[in-house]
Amino acid sequence: MKYNYLAITTAIFTLSLSNISFAQKKVKPNPLKEEVKASVDQRFDALTDLSDRIWSFEEIAFRETQSAKALADYAEELGFRVTRGVAEIPTAFVAEYGSGSPVIGILGEFDALPGLSQNKVPYKSPLNEGAPGHGCGHNLFGVASLGAAASIKDLIDQGKIKGTVRFYGTPAEEKFFGKLWMVRAGLFNDVDVVMDWHPAAETKAAVQKGLALVDFQVEFFGQAAHASADPWNGRSASDALELYTSGINYYREHIKPTVRIHYHIQDAGQVVNVVPDYSRIWVRVRDSSREGLVPVWKRVEEMAEGAAILANVDYKVNLISGVHEVLVNRTGSAALQKNLENLGSISYTEEEQNFAKKIQEATGKPQIGLVSKIEPMEETAEHSMGGSTDVGDVSWVVPTIRLSATTAPNGTPWHSWAVVAAGGMSIGHKGMAYAAKALSMTMVDLFQNPELVESVKTEFKEKKGDYVYKGFVPDGPPPINSNLQ
Ligand SMILES: [Zn+2]
Repeated sequence: MKYNYLAITTAIFTLSLSNISFAQKKVKPNPLKEEVKASVDQRFDALTDLSDRIWSFEEIAFRETQSAKALADYAEELGFRVTRGVAEIPTAFVAEYGSGSPVIGILGEFDALPGLSQNKVPYKSPLNEGAPGHGCGHNLFGVASLGAAASIKDLIDQGKIKGTVRFYGTPAEEKFFGKLWMVRAGLFNDVDVVMDWHPAAETKAAVQKGLALVDFQVEFFGQAAHASADPWNGRSASDALELYTSGINYYREHIKPTVRIHYHIQDAGQVVNVVPDYSRIWVRVRDSSREGLVPVWKRVEEMAEGAAILANVDYKVNLISGVHEVLVNRTGSAALQKNLENLGSISYTEEEQNFAKKIQEATGKPQIGLVSKIEPMEETAEHSMGGSTDVGDVSWVVPTIRLSATTAPNGTPWHSWAVVAAGGMSIGHKGMAYAAKALSMTMVDLFQNPELVESVKTEFKEKKGDYVYKGFVPDGPPPINSNLQ
């Protein structure tokens, strides 16, 4: 269904059994929304080409040099004012068009994940063995958002709307949460509303909070010795690490079900005949809110001291970064929802559905194909589960409206080869174009309707209350060249 219908205001009945006609009137399509949709269609080939190039660059966190350049160059060609290397991050940039108020921002990610390189086929087949791949669909993410910004630019150009559209090229979402440093640099301080989307296996206004998290490293420093000839001269950093993880794993029984703790042992000695004098572990703690997160995080940090005492070694804790849960804006999401209902679901060819079903077969999931049906807007759960995003931090400094759009088959594992495959072909391209349309239509609402912007802001202020945002980010520059990679 393409159009909404106005409620019947005046009932004029023609009383006839065979023909009851109502004074029913179609809502006129908003011409500006029709124009932004047409702009996306008109740029479809260019956007698809850009997405495919970023897909094939396969660049991971803070290494997205070619991907960031491709997006920034395209924005510049379109006439955006582009500032590269913002927030001390070479691959972060801002592209702006127009002037004055309102300032509507839109986020675009473009980093890949290690080890997920994949051909555009519905079975596991690495394109470049061991190389990264776009297992979270960020090749589509940045491009759709820039496509949406470009459609708004067209309207500003023609004098049909007034204000500023600003695209944020936001790197390193997958590993370090690049937006943290962009928020810290004050890049969102003058924005009225931010829009955002994410590739997904369904299409909906994204109204769940996700999880807050914090990442830190623990290093243990011991004394090396021959593991057999004089082990009494050794103090083992590896022993400390094992004791530490044991402590964490016992602690799991005494934490709330909303908490998640993961760790990655990065260094536990090199050879078997040396008492290791150094070990390092990356620890991640999550909970459904930062209030729940902080005490668990502090407790897990403290355990490092206990482990160090037991193993008679020294230790050091380094905060890496962390994110807030998302501050959901339901007022803005409701405006987005109306546009989704207006757009309807994405239509797929039989070939695309077959591709999706083959992926589902290969990953042991029901072969139901692609799902992009628009359901009513969900309730926002008090404790949502799932992943985390640095969009959370943006959402605590500026009201943020979020979309999920179908770019991969339903039910298949995320962060996997399946997402890379679908994101590199027409299934992904359709999701990208759909997202660009839904986002730009909602931006039209924001530009045309100052009351909407005000009510979005009112909800934001009420929900934020007196909390003064402070990111989980250490002092100093972002970890672009650290040994954390
Ligand atoms: Zn992602």
